[in-house]
Amino acid sequence: MTRIGVLALQGDVREHAAILEACGAAAVPVRRPRELEGLDGIVIPGGESTTIDKLLRAFDLFEPLRQAIADGLPAFGSCAGMILLADRITGGTADQQTLGGLDVTVRRNAFGRQVDSFETDLVVDGVPDSQDDPVHAVFIRAPWVEEVGPRVQVLARVESGAAAGRIVAVRERDVLATSFHPELTGDQRLHRLFVSIVESR
Ligand code: GLN
Repeated sequence: MTRIGVLALQGDVREHAAILEACGAAAVPVRRPRELEGLDGIVIPGGESTTIDKLLRAFDLFEPLRQAIADGLPAFGSCAGMILLADRITGGTADQQTLGGLDVTVRRNAFGRQVDSFETDLVVDGVPDSQDDPVHAVFIRAPWVEEVGPRVQVLARVESGAAAGRIVAVRERDVLATSFHPELTGDQRLHRLFVSIVESR
């Protein structure tokens, strides 16, 4: 069975684990370096990226997880998870570090106060039926992707409103990230995409 770790230091861990299980994978909570052993992929949940960064370092997980992703462990991050997977961030705190893996620059809390939280429908490349049946995306103090490197695939952009055109889903090799929280809506299609990325390796 495909074993997918869920980084379980802070954030919406249970929601990700439940969807992964519904997609037929075994969801493994990860709090210690040895729990990375034998994983086929890792999910980095939404939460607070500065807190997750500090806890990663406190639990001696930062370096082994950074290395595992650099060595090709497939990873999926939502919201704070996207920030942690970005090679570069703007709007971070002075000492904030990221695991990296995606050649992108991500802006934290990008959507500004008025739209701290909002919901919208998206067509997501890689979710083929989202043309007819869009992905309902929930954004909570979300980042957006400001710059992408040449190998990064843009999977979704906000379609309307003040943030129209902003990049909110990306993939590079086997690393996938969304500004929004697919784990909160009951829509399993992003997780199914990630499980299929993991299983096609
Ligand atoms: N604003 C948070 C951060 O910077 C992310 C919010 C979220 O994950 N919902 O980490």
